[in-house]
Amino acid sequence: MRFAVSILLNIVLTVLQLTYAYQAHAVSLLSDALHNLGDVLGLLLAWSAQILLTRQTSERYSYGYKKSTILATLGNALLLFFSVGFIIYEAIEKLLHPHPMDEIPVIFIAFLGIIINSSMALLFAREKKTDVNIKAVFLHLMLDALTSLGVVLAAALIYYTGQQWIDSCVAFIIASIILISSWRLLRHALDLSLAAVPHDINLATVRTYLLQIPGVTAIKNLHIWSLSTQETALTAQLVMPQSFLINSDYQRIQEDLLKYYNIHTSTLQVEQE
Ligand SMILES: [Zn+2]
Repeated sequence: MRFAVSILLNIVLTVLQLTYAYQAHAVSLLSDALHNLGDVLGLLLAWSAQILLTRQTSERYSYGYKKSTILATLGNALLLFFSVGFIIYEAIEKLLHPHPMDEIPVIFIAFLGIIINSSMALLFAREKKTDVNIKAVFLHLMLDALTSLGVVLAAALIYYTGQQWIDSCVAFIIASIILISSWRLLRHALDLSLAAVPHDINLATVRTYLLQIPGVTAIKNLHIWSLSTQETALTAQLVMPQSFLINSDYQRIQEDLLKYYNIHTSTLQVEQE
């Protein structure tokens, strides 16, 4: 519900900002608009991936559509890079051919951005202490409100000084903020795509855990990777020259792996040597 409201408000804000950015010749407002557009796309991608995540598996797609969440993250990161390039292009264009900004509507629309983003942040604020994801959403919304505040201040400054370069300057700052977050997102998406060990899991610690199972002398081909943005898998070969595992052992190991390392699916193969 909150996500639906968030998406809807962001769409309204983005359309208003885009329209006025062009009418009032404000690249700073344009960059704020493109940032919000990125947020809308991110929310929509996350939402549709969430729906695909619950789809049934089939004979052909035996994992279901879990990896679509990874594709969504990758797509979102690439879109953000594209918008950064566009902002930089428009900001340089404005420096070369300055067009006087119509400050009053820019201040008004950017102010609306502050109100919408900070009230959305308050919607999430109550739970931010308990949930890491909610905390991230809260911080992001607060940063968005600050970005809009930057646009308001820039427009006010241009109104009093008439210095048009301030507009491009603020657009460059916003573009770099988007660039930093999209770089992080891209690295995360690439890690997921390349089946890297998830950030919150230490391979060495998991190996140590598996090695302390009675009878295990060595571990071969230990792999830990993300099946989706929310699910982790493990495969490993346990070398047990003198003993073997029974059903209750497997169950206990799988429970431990889930409890201590957040690994949801594990496949273990026991070998004599
Ligand atoms: Zn944002």
